[in-house]
Amino acid sequence: MTGEHMSPDEFRRLGHEYVDWVASYWERVGELPVQSTVAPGEVFASLPASPPSTGADDLAAVLADVDELILPGLTHWQHPSFFAFFPANTSGPGVLADLLSSGLGVNGMNWATSPACTEVEMRMLDWFVELLGLPDHLRHDHDGPGGGVLQDSASSATLVALLAARKRVTDGGDLSRLRAYTSEHAHSSVVKGARVAGLADDQVRLVPADATHAMRADALADAIEADVAAGLVPFFCCATAGTTSSMAFDPVPEIADICATSGIWCHVDAAMAGSAAVCPELRWVTDGAERVDSWSFNPHKWLFTTFDCTCLWFRDARPVVDALSITPVYLRNEQSESGAVVDFRDWQVPLGRRFRALKPWLVMRHYGADGLARHIREHVRLGRLLADRVLDDPRFELAAPPALNLVVLRCTGDDADRRTTELLERVNASGEALLTPTVLDGRPAIRVCVGQTWTTQVHVDALWALLERSLSS
Ligand code: PLP
Repeated sequence: MTGEHMSPDEFRRLGHEYVDWVASYWERVGELPVQSTVAPGEVFASLPASPPSTGADDLAAVLADVDELILPGLTHWQHPSFFAFFPANTSGPGVLADLLSSGLGVNGMNWATSPACTEVEMRMLDWFVELLGLPDHLRHDHDGPGGGVLQDSASSATLVALLAARKRVTDGGDLSRLRAYTSEHAHSSVVKGARVAGLADDQVRLVPADATHAMRADALADAIEADVAAGLVPFFCCATAGTTSSMAFDPVPEIADICATSGIWCHVDAAMAGSAAVCPELRWVTDGAERVDSWSFNPHKWLFTTFDCTCLWFRDARPVVDALSITPVYLRNEQSESGAVVDFRDWQVPLGRRFRALKPWLVMRHYGADGLARHIREHVRLGRLLADRVLDDPRFELAAPPALNLVVLRCTGDDADRRTTELLERVNASGEALLTPTVLDGRPAIRVCVGQTWTTQVHVDALWALLERSLSS
């Protein structure tokens, strides 16, 4: 008879094979083309149209299919020459934690449904506060209403902050007078979050930025004043610490002050740059965190905490619980009703939640604060090295001030915009490295982000050689 459950012994045998496969993937990923070149529909067509009716497959055979059918259809985010987007850098401890989490298979929606799931998460969020030098009032073990929670993504963190902010000003009904604010360079997830929260796109004011692409605090103050004068209700502002296009830092302390004066919820999206704060000399990335209502960053981008894992802290978590808590009979329990425990289902949109906190636990235990800082520092050094090469070469220029591990460059000379676009296309088509386009000040530019786990100077040198060789006249 087929279709029996896999026995623990069989799982153990196959598990070793699967772990072996992943380890050798990491060993050889640098030799694969970074970007997938499959045509749309190719992977889909390679799989049978119907599921197997009998379960005869030895799952070891699936690994051969992964090699043959799946790998060509992947863009290899763990390739050491992946310089695109922001990274999602994985690590051994991160993957092992995911394995543990899946094996335990708990749903920590309420404290009572698995107390360790909630309490490890609380402790990890407190560890991160210390690791990044964030203010103590964000800790769970601080005597106050603050604390942090894990979300799946920065987009969800912004949405949850938006919902809490909305709850502070209205219980629902007519939302048309609400206004939110963010920089013209903010990530699209802010407008998306506002949509989900019931706002039209034009209810989010895109505040102009200065020459460094950072939000202008004076323009924010003017926009708020004009809206108040027009009888509208400013309620939420998202400042970005490290924008996606150019790693610009909005002036959080000034923005937080303006928000506090106007009674507006101030959220900081430090999606990638927040990780830099593990280096004491880079803690300026958290400037102003002590004054804001919520602050968020993604350990899954640059801190080796296998996707997905986002930290979100609140100065006061009560508006979040007010906004998101609904308790039908089947979710009631004695501990929740006693008020002595935290139920993280009330701090997020979905009900269910996996044991995600195992990832930062293993990552921090494996690397330690010093190890994490060492790796981040090296990526920043490599970013600076590339920026210096650009500065020293008249064929290129920087399109934005270099910051942390991001370099944004373009070609100089005649027809520079066309040649910048062609350069990017050639580099990406080579399969040797992957970069991302952007537009700054109305002109095309190329983003290079150094942050993959196995990226070293060898890969940055090779990228520079590739850029030089791919230049057109
Ligand atoms: N915020 C910023 C500044 C980002 O750069 C990104 C993604 O790169 C996001 C938010 C969205 O991140 P996530 O995929 O975690 O929602």
